[in-house]
Amino acid sequence: MSNLKIDRRDFVTSSIVAAGTSVLLAKDSHAAASQETAEAPGSETATAYTGEAIQGKKVISRLNVADLEPGRKHFLYFQGVQMPGGQHWYVSVIVAKGVRSGKRFTLTSGVHGDEMSSIRTVQAVMDRLDPAQMSGTVMAVLDIARPALEGMQRRWPDSGRGADLIDMNREWPGDENGASATSRHAALLFNRLLKPNSDLAIDFHTGTTGLEVAAFLIGDRRLPDVKTMAELYPIGLMWDDPAYPGVLHNAFVDVGIPCFTPEVGAARILDNEMIALFVEGTLNVLKHYEVISGPMGQTAADVKMMIGDAAFPIIATHGGLVEFHAKLDDDVKAGQTIAVQRNMFGDVVAEYATAVNGKLAAYRTDASSEPGNILAFILFRQPDLQPHRRTEPYSEKSYAE
Ligand SMILES: [Zn+2]
Repeated sequence: MSNLKIDRRDFVTSSIVAAGTSVLLAKDSHAAASQETAEAPGSETATAYTGEAIQGKKVISRLNVADLEPGRKHFLYFQGVQMPGGQHWYVSVIVAKGVRSGKRFTLTSGVHGDEMSSIRTVQAVMDRLDPAQMSGTVMAVLDIARPALEGMQRRWPDSGRGADLIDMNREWPGDENGASATSRHAALLFNRLLKPNSDLAIDFHTGTTGLEVAAFLIGDRRLPDVKTMAELYPIGLMWDDPAYPGVLHNAFVDVGIPCFTPEVGAARILDNEMIALFVEGTLNVLKHYEVISGPMGQTAADVKMMIGDAAFPIIATHGGLVEFHAKLDDDVKAGQTIAVQRNMFGDVVAEYATAVNGKLAAYRTDASSEPGNILAFILFRQPDLQPHRRTEPYSEKSYAE
């Protein structure tokens, strides 16, 4: 994909110059550029209202939370990239602006379109905030991959080559002149909303359709604020790993904004018990950084969080129906059978065992599988290996975030 990330304006310009059609040059190079590059000098940091309202909510194309009235909540639509029909995708934004100065938190969800509990977690945190009693700001950006969300699917439906699907959580920080609407949407959000208004950030996810995950956190505990925030969640599992380039939490980290990712269970559903734990953890974080006051709730220490630094994958070798012999969060031992697979005659064609001792952190919920699919992963500790090694123990495809 890297060869597609060249500056498209330059590409279009040079190819059309070669064809000698200078009239088309100006038109096409404009079309290839970002939809929003024409801004008055000095306006790069001020909130930009488009002058429109949708369902009573003002539309913005840039935000500076310092411009917002303190002591109240603001409900806005951020103008994202255009659809093929020429209208925009709009992203829902809530800002709780405190009455005193303080940390600016950003809570994001919906980077994958089938992860409903992540959205509800952020909504529930915002419901608990009273800006008249707050310091700093909390900004919620709820439905980031809007077209994916409209279809209850993980990936963004892109029209670049017929029907295509793009995983938006491999696109950050995006490129406003990028080669896909997904990349441009990511960059508009990152440059004009997320990065300028965040001292700390948390990007909420869940498992994905067909692959359920236990409640866990993923992040790089070498970062002091990530370690601090993670330890305030009453969640039993953490994968201490920076994950992949292109994920939103790493784009934040790369510009100096500590961020990590909570994983709130299964896709497509609202898991209210699990949501409550992540709300409690997030409120603990806001208390720790003195955005809100109040007694701490339960934390990682109360639930004896297990911290793994590697994930052992179980990958299907056959086609057929898969039956699990272990449950999410189970402690499993090396050699233990995790699942068996049967062909259409009912014959067992494969038995899958773990090679490590650890916790069953994710498993496939679609009962049939073809070879190559991830069936499960086991979170474990690798005392013999260097932590945070960049080589992955399994294919990118298997990762649930
Ligand atoms: Zn996700």
